Amino acid sequence: MTRYSAWSVFWNGLTGQKGWDRAWRDPEPKAEYDVVIVGAGLHGLATAYYLAKNHGVRNIAVVEKGYLGGGNAGRNTTIVRSNYMMPGNRDFYEHSLKLWENLSHDLNYNVMFSQRAHVSLFHSPASRDAAARRYNTMRLTDTDGELWSLDELKRNVPHLNYGPNSRFPILGAAVQKRAGTARHDAVAWGYARAADQHGVDIIQKCEVTGVIRDGARVTGLETTRGIIKGKKVGFAVAGNTSRLWGMAELGKLPIETHKLQAFVSEPLKPLLDQVVVFGVGGAHFYISQSDKGGMVFGGDIDWYKSYAQRGNLPIVQDVAECATSILPCLGRVRLLRHWSGVMDMSMDGAPFICKTPLDNLYLNAGWNYGGFKATPASGWYFADLIANDRPARVVVNHDLTRFERGVNIDERGAGPDPKLHG
Ligand SMILES: Cc1cc2nc3c(=O)[nH]c(=O)nc-3n(C[C@H](O)[C@H](O)[C@H](O)COP(=O)(O)OP(=O)(O)OC[C@H]3O[C@@H](n4cnc5c(N)ncnc54)[C@H](O)[C@@H]3O)c2cc1C
Repeated sequence: MTRYSAWSVFWNGLTGQKGWDRAWRDPEPKAEYDVVIVGAGLHGLATAYYLAKNHGVRNIAVVEKGYLGGGNAGRNTTIVRSNYMMPGNRDFYEHSLKLWENLSHDLNYNVMFSQRAHVSLFHSPASRDAAARRYNTMRLTDTDGELWSLDELKRNVPHLNYGPNSRFPILGAAVQKRAGTARHDAVAWGYARAADQHGVDIIQKCEVTGVIRDGARVTGLETTRGIIKGKKVGFAVAGNTSRLWGMAELGKLPIETHKLQAFVSEPLKPLLDQVVVFGVGGAHFYISQSDKGGMVFGGDIDWYKSYAQRGNLPIVQDVAECATSILPCLGRVRLLRHWSGVMDMSMDGAPFICKTPLDNLYLNAGWNYGGFKATPASGWYFADLIANDRPARVVVNHDLTRFERGVNIDERGAGPDPKLHG
């Protein structure tokens, strides 16, 4: 496999671009694997990569019903941050951010990670106090975080609606400078290529249609490309988790499937150099500018459950209202595209990386709309769980029993209604 480097770009430029290999193979499924991961989104691909790299597992398949990265992996607004307060999520997301910081080198693939700062606006003394508590906790536990006064915010982000008549006057912002964005497709492609180099079979157009059980064990998966046996099986199917769970006849999960839309405008000259988050009253809105110049933004989930990868018009209006109230200069910008993904909304807003009632079945789910930033740590700890059959300390409470044990790992802990997760 050609190693990507400035030299290989230069050399291939001189020699007719003939020295590039395929980024990953297109293998036929084998009859049996040591580990089968269902779902070639970010989490499934990252899990396969770390299983091979960190734990030396060689006989791995990732099976995907569509094409790799075609689910939420390629549909998100690409925000990466680790501004969490509660133990559990705090250590988890900080580990993730540290992995992001070296991910392009690790994968030998430019994931375009841009630490451009994540700026959460506050509009009342109470929300400033809540932000201070959270960001001070982050600082005390080795994560960066700071509060910007209104003057500092105006210097750094000049185009926000600071007018005297704005509906929600801005008082300042809580800022994580190491946070930012990455190119979502590149992350999927980078993990796929690196996993393939370790011998992982990525099998696309292979939908799992049934789970074959022998008592408390999974013995194999029925797929549209035949039966595939696995000594261990991991689900990493995001919004389709309850469908797979149903195939394994495991009853109900504390997860609802909702849609989340994202939007991109026509390309503009450089306007916004950070990720800005605006959330007050009923509003929930986040925006950044892509390297191509498009304004990339999103808001709340659509207000009904569905597995469809499309959204509704009231959310378009809602998001447009937020955009123009916080960045009035966007009023005449044209919307280029919008789309939606299917979200695995857990009842407390936090994820699951855990064992299941079946001995050799493992669950990775409940990412809500924060699973992009979680990708490296999710793959890291899910691989560790599958390889060692016990959860690492950091994810010991990321299991299905935390509700009955009364453990809260997300300060919002906003369930049971997933629409409160903003
Ligand atoms: C609009 C939007 C904006 C978002 N913004 C952000 C953000 O800014 N920051 C952030 O951190 N997170 C964000 N997220 C969330 C993040 O994208 C997801 O949490 C994350 O991508 C989910 O993990 P995944 O990539 O593994 O899921 P997916 O990419 O959805 O992967 C699951 C895969 O499983 C496959 N699959 C499903 N059923 C089967 C089956 N039966 N057989 C085989 N394969 C199957 C699917 O085809 C899919 O490819 C956003 C999501 C959306 C939709």
